[in-house]
Amino acid sequence: MDFQNTLDFAKALDTSDKLKSFRDEFLIPFNNGRPSIYFTGNSLGLQPKKTKEIIFQELDDWAKFGVEGHFMASRPWVSYHELFPSLLSPIIGGHSSEIVAMNQLTSNLHFLFVSFYRPTKSRYKIIMEGKAFPSDQYAVESQVKFHGFLPDDAIIEVFPREGEICLRTEDIIDAIEKNKETIALVFFSGVNYYTGQVFDMKSIAKKTQEIKAVCGFDLAHAAGNVELNLHDWGVDFAAWCSYKYLNSGPGGVGGAFIHEKHSKEFSLPRFTGWWGHDKSARFKMDKTFVPMHGAEGWQLSNAPVLSMAAHYASLKVFEEAGFKNLLEKSKTLTDYLVFLLKELHESGKINIITPFECPERGCQISLLLKNNGKQVYDGLFKEGVIVDWREPNVIRLAPVPLYNNFEDVFEFVKILRNLLTQ
Ligand SMILES: *Cc1c(COP(=O)(O)O)cnc(C)c1O
Repeated sequence: MDFQNTLDFAKALDTSDKLKSFRDEFLIPFNNGRPSIYFTGNSLGLQPKKTKEIIFQELDDWAKFGVEGHFMASRPWVSYHELFPSLLSPIIGGHSSEIVAMNQLTSNLHFLFVSFYRPTKSRYKIIMEGKAFPSDQYAVESQVKFHGFLPDDAIIEVFPREGEICLRTEDIIDAIEKNKETIALVFFSGVNYYTGQVFDMKSIAKKTQEIKAVCGFDLAHAAGNVELNLHDWGVDFAAWCSYKYLNSGPGGVGGAFIHEKHSKEFSLPRFTGWWGHDKSARFKMDKTFVPMHGAEGWQLSNAPVLSMAAHYASLKVFEEAGFKNLLEKSKTLTDYLVFLLKELHESGKINIITPFECPERGCQISLLLKNNGKQVYDGLFKEGVIVDWREPNVIRLAPVPLYNNFEDVFEFVKILRNLLTQ
């Protein structure tokens, strides 16, 4: 599309946007008496208006039925988690039986590592991106130590080339190839939280299969943001959180994907709890654990219904909008942002460190500023723009197709340009 740098053009794009009505389904924080330009859906997605009603319904059912709500609530709590796989399936790109909503992200990673990081004396290494999100670094390090290895030896980090900020797929593949005798697990994020780079998950998974190792992804910044086809790519496992692009509220319930090929492998080690036990016999309270088939068999506890209610409310919005439609809008919305930012990039006022084009990026764009970064960030905030600040000098922003529009993007760049040329 040929974009134009005018408010009228942005407004015209909004008028012809098929998904424009969804903005109205969200509560947008106010600033100075008007809706803010909220570009922080990569950190905490906004609240759908329906969320309160759906949580209240669970509270009402609890009041009305007490313990009987497990069976008599309008969405019975005993099977609450079963509401999610089919709603998450188009977002994650997996079969329903491969998906379960449970726990939180870092906890899920540990439970999945129990099953999928099974080092031997000769194959014990984990390969991952350098400067991964800290929680992932801590989780991996503690797993490696738990198995009696030294992090410096057992963790291989892949870094960008000298002078570059993003990783090249060929360098990731080369690093896997070079260490193919010793790698037990290939573990990357789907989208790097800092640069916004989308990794080529398909190629990484393919290469992992070639060396007969296990492939897992942390989809914190990918789920709900970019197209995923975990099943077709042959990814072994993945985990994500729901409070970023999935708009399910602070600390919301996470999710896990376990590829079909493992679903009946009951010999895999796993940490277990009663909610992973064969459903038909769960309440017999027998001694021996019999896992359910599929991802459900990795559950431990009964569902945290109140936070899952928020997850449900949000996923219904995704279902209504259609994930493919959202991806399409997302591409155009962020393309427009990049188009408007290019002038500032080319004149050296900012440095866009995210790859410019899909599929190497989703909706997040990261800007490296000069030493005026914090000042610019504060200036934006004063003007009602909510973006995200990362030391030492990076502003991350993410126009989200469900609730951001082209006018937001236009206004944001106008404010930023003013701040940079003062
Ligand atoms: C947001 C994020 C987390 C957060 O983990 P929680 O367990 O949900 O607190 C972990 N890893 C990555 C890559 C993230 O982006």
